[in-house]
Amino acid sequence: MEDKRVLTGEKIIVKVGKLNIGENDSPILIAGPCAVESREQVLEIALRLKEIGVDILRGGVFKPRTSPYSFQGLGLKGLEYLREAGEKIGVPIITELMDEENLEAVAEYSDIIQIGSRNMYNYPLLKKVGQIDKPVLLKRGMSATIKEWVLAAEYIASCGNKNIILCERGIRTFQNYTRNTLDLAAVPIMQRETGLPIIVDPSHGTGIRELILPMSRAAVACGANGVMIEVHNNPKNALSDGFQSLTPDQYKEVVEALKEITN
Ligand code: PEP
Ligand code: MN
Repeated sequence: MEDKRVLTGEKIIVKVGKLNIGENDSPILIAGPCAVESREQVLEIALRLKEIGVDILRGGVFKPRTSPYSFQGLGLKGLEYLREAGEKIGVPIITELMDEENLEAVAEYSDIIQIGSRNMYNYPLLKKVGQIDKPVLLKRGMSATIKEWVLAAEYIASCGNKNIILCERGIRTFQNYTRNTLDLAAVPIMQRETGLPIIVDPSHGTGIRELILPMSRAAVACGANGVMIEVHNNPKNALSDGFQSLTPDQYKEVVEALKEITN
């Protein structure tokens, strides 16, 4: 690959609050609903997650939905609710940024800016988040090769921001039994190629609730620095991705299983 690369493979630790992501012995747990649906919903989930174990609270407020007729997220109001919930349980928050227009607000309220799979190829947006020093979680594009993903990270890093956390979330392949094909080989490859921490999202990576525990175990076993899991207090009535969301009790089983691997 290009010899101008600024991500040389030398290990990079991303600091978020008290967390040193990439340095951790125990995997970073990112959990929360796919979307923030109301103040009560996100507070209720956050309080349950706190009891179980969570390092970073997630929740989408700008949702990149496949259909324009699906719930699009609460926008900035949702971001306030997520912030409040994060503060209440004392953990940093992460939310997705879809456009430059909301960069300032997301950078101000959120501790990590998520660039979603659909925007991995949005080079103007990558350059913009590269010009600030906020940590960025860069999801793999759903059809991205390793090289394309490395170069997307380079777009951010070459603008000055090396606070990047990668996220493997599955790619589209010919098989359609699972929502995506979780490419765990990408974990050690991306760590070696970029030096960046990488976490795995088995929720979007499989789209099947029952697969989240075994694939979380597999992710941690192959060296992932953490997992990001969708958890909902009432998955049946969730406004997005309910079918793949764990209940808090199911999430607890995952957290317990991960302790067994790392202890
Ligand atoms: C999400 O994390 O809610 C999300 C939309 O994921 P992705 O960008 O991987 O589809
Ligand atoms: Mn989702």
